[in-house]
Amino acid sequence: MFFLLDEKKNSYLIKGEQDFHCKYGVVSAKELAGKKPGDIIKSHTGHTFNVLKPDSTDYLRKARKGPQSVTLKDLGLISAYTGVCSGYRVVDAGTGSGIMAMYLSNLVYPERLVTYEIRDDFAKIAEGNISKAQIDNIELKKCDIYDGIEERDLDLITLDLPEPWRVVEHARCALKPGGFLVSYSPSIEQSKKLCDVLDVFHQTTLECLSREWDMRTVRPKSRMLGHSGFLTFARLIVVD
Ligand code: SAH
Repeated sequence: MFFLLDEKKNSYLIKGEQDFHCKYGVVSAKELAGKKPGDIIKSHTGHTFNVLKPDSTDYLRKARKGPQSVTLKDLGLISAYTGVCSGYRVVDAGTGSGIMAMYLSNLVYPERLVTYEIRDDFAKIAEGNISKAQIDNIELKKCDIYDGIEERDLDLITLDLPEPWRVVEHARCALKPGGFLVSYSPSIEQSKKLCDVLDVFHQTTLECLSREWDMRTVRPKSRMLGHSGFLTFARLIVVD
């Protein structure tokens, strides 16, 4: 896979198996095959492209989106607040486009991440994204997580689905003591309903506002993503 940046900093994630056509001309697949990260390549009309190797974030940004996926800012919070790292045992649901699963699978590698999805059409989109990013440590289960979680001794369960409170009892059985249940919900009503049943968990709910600055005019950009979702972090505690 190649990551090309054009003169206007538009980016393209391409396999490089066929000639690549865009408004700046045609980039030859044959010529691209001989390039390495950091090289420059020219289209047949003389426009230049930077050749880079895609990193894990490039695959997330360029992934095909089905249902609304978790944003990078929220993924950042999830990893910071749970400490998820190599070896963590994680179950994720619902898979959706696979963005959360792909992000976390990179962190837990070489451990395998399991993700549950009920819809075949979304599972297909996620499988396409996972395969394009050459990720081999995700197991996608076409199962309803409201029916239960098969895995045990989990460090982390991530939820992005309409009724997260229906997973709390399953999470209590599947998590290690001290393990995290993290739920991402667009509506605070969903978060409240979840929090009301988190009796054996330490819990925190927060949202992340991220404002980009225009460093030419040296002021914040006038448009920002005002709302994505609320994150509830719940840590399983042991009670006598
Ligand atoms: N976190 C995903 C987006 C999830 S969208 C991403 O980052 O790409 C919510 C998904 O949950 C949808 O695909 C929906 O089909 C799935 N879903 C809803 N209820 C579910 C359930 N009970 N079990 C498994 N998946 C479920």
